[in-house]
Amino acid sequence: MALHKDTAIVLLKRVYGESDKIVSLFTLNSGKVPAIARGGSRSVKRFMNTLEPFNYITVEYFDRRGRGLARIENADIIETNNGMETSLKTMCIASFFTEFTDKLTKERERNEHLFYILHEVLTKVKEWHFTHENVLHYQLRMLEALGYLPNFNSCVYCGEEIPGNKKIFFSVERGGIICGRCSEFVPCRVCGEGVIPWLSSMKTIPLYSCENMDEKVTTQDTNNVNIFQAREIMEEFVSFHLDVEFKSYRLLKGLLFT
Ligand SMILES: [Zn+2]
Repeated sequence: MALHKDTAIVLLKRVYGESDKIVSLFTLNSGKVPAIARGGSRSVKRFMNTLEPFNYITVEYFDRRGRGLARIENADIIETNNGMETSLKTMCIASFFTEFTDKLTKERERNEHLFYILHEVLTKVKEWHFTHENVLHYQLRMLEALGYLPNFNSCVYCGEEIPGNKKIFFSVERGGIICGRCSEFVPCRVCGEGVIPWLSSMKTIPLYSCENMDEKVTTQDTNNVNIFQAREIMEEFVSFHLDVEFKSYRLLKGLLFT
């Protein structure tokens, strides 16, 4: 039985029985690994505060069958989740992205790119005053790392490249934009001019840190109509293609968009 040594981000934790902990780890080398820590809760020393959500840790575990629960032997903190508890919004954003990773990845499927994006977002969320642009930015990058990025460049029906000012039709079902000609027979939603270019630009816009947490970070001039429509496209896209509901999203939406 091989002992795996890896770095991991703790996605979720629950107490199991009297003293055990079950965690969902997102590891660098093996992707998502559900694991059990025996005596995790009873022992003061063993795994104390280590297997907490959002922690970045080193872990040693036995994974006998390569499925089901792995057994954690050792775990040490590299970076703690300290700073997450400063506000409900910070917690909520961190929860959303860990839930996003947990629900959209398969067990034992390595995704190094996604690992580093999640690590980045969990670091930045403690330093920045996150806005909806920041959330969209990371959401799009994660979708890309998972191979689910919507097509914002060419018509998903005929393949024609569409210039920015003509990007107004979006097909949730087909996962991308539709040209004017195809929009006459392909079911799609009509967006205001600029909405789709704005949404797709969120993936690559340079995000910058904000020294003053109270200062609102804005990335470019937008208006509420844009944000509302862009958000709707993303919500419909994710729920249609990935068929998941995020518990943390409803709360996050209330905190970010009202
Ligand atoms: Zn077309």
